[in-house]
Amino acid sequence: LDATAHPSFDGHQQVDFRVDPVSGLRSIIAIHDTTLGPALGGCRMWPYANDMDALDDVLRLSRGMTYKNALAGLPLGGGKAVIIADPKTDKSRALFEAFGDHVDSLGGRYITAEDVGITDADMEIVAGRTPHVRGIRATGLGDPSPFTAWGVFCAMRTAVGFALERASLAGLTVAVQGLGHVGGRVAALAHADGARLIVADIDQARVDEVVARNGATSVPVDRIHAVTADVFAPCALGGGLNETTVPQVRAGIVCGAANNQLRTPQDGASLMRRGILYAPDYLVNAGGVISIAPERPGMTADEMKSRIARIGDTLGLVLSRAKMQDLPPEVVADRMAEERIAAARRDRSA
Ligand code: NAD
Repeated sequence: LDATAHPSFDGHQQVDFRVDPVSGLRSIIAIHDTTLGPALGGCRMWPYANDMDALDDVLRLSRGMTYKNALAGLPLGGGKAVIIADPKTDKSRALFEAFGDHVDSLGGRYITAEDVGITDADMEIVAGRTPHVRGIRATGLGDPSPFTAWGVFCAMRTAVGFALERASLAGLTVAVQGLGHVGGRVAALAHADGARLIVADIDQARVDEVVARNGATSVPVDRIHAVTADVFAPCALGGGLNETTVPQVRAGIVCGAANNQLRTPQDGASLMRRGILYAPDYLVNAGGVISIAPERPGMTADEMKSRIARIGDTLGLVLSRAKMQDLPPEVVADRMAEERIAAARRDRSA
């Protein structure tokens, strides 16, 4: 495979393939940019149909981490890893040890963490082979999901302040799509702040739990994006905002945790044309990566929550600039991330 010829290569600094016949490991580590620091991004385990799909995924995700880490103000670059295997059937100690060796061979230029398909227990094995692992109990505050949810909530408060001049979610309706590790907590935080909830999940047990605990109303999964609400919070999978769904959105604000919510840049432009405020996903959902970043070892959970609340301030800045410049917020967010990286490059060469 020639990674440099791939359409998503986009200036990556390093792409490293590893095949280990003994353990069965097949992994790719992509390092997009290390201007701001070592590249931090999770490892995804997925039964990709072929190596090209895996390469495409890792390249797009690692580039995304460069932007996420830069805009979050972290001293970190962007990278990502994928293991080409089925998390349901292919896990073994030897496989994660071999992956740990792969991470270690890059000498700290790439720092790994959990992503889809990987558990804490898997990462503990990886950590036995390399120190370049974050997000496990031994290295800090553990599971990043509650911190991601907190960041989404802070962003939501900023968005309703900006668009509706409200100081809280009290009396507003929030529609949450996906009630997993993050979405379930976003729903609870919004409810505690006085919001009415409309929810949907393909897993009925999760819906039942949120309905019972937070007095939510549930709707079918194919309707949640189209309900009448003040805020629509996509917290399931990516690509949910596309040419079919965007014209159906009735909320004035979209602010949620899912990665890559907009299927194409045109979908962001369509939201703007419809007067819907879109809070850029990678800005909004950075709480998790902030919580695992090696910023200040020993931070308490409360200190971390104050640090993550700055996502709301950054969103405020992005939304003001977007209004002034008549641009979609996600375009402004990209530019701010690029400015931060360019400034660091200038400082370095000065
Ligand atoms: P999760 O797997 O715990 O939860 C996802 C939930 O969405 C599940 O309950 C699932 O049943 C539901 N779902 C799937 N398809 C759906 C559909 N079509 N309609 C409604 N519900 C559906 O995942 P998570 O950790 O909560 O992450 C949610 C999103 O946030 C993902 O896109 C993830 O990439 C992103 N994210 C998560 C974190 C984190 O800290 N966990 C950080 C950044 C971004």
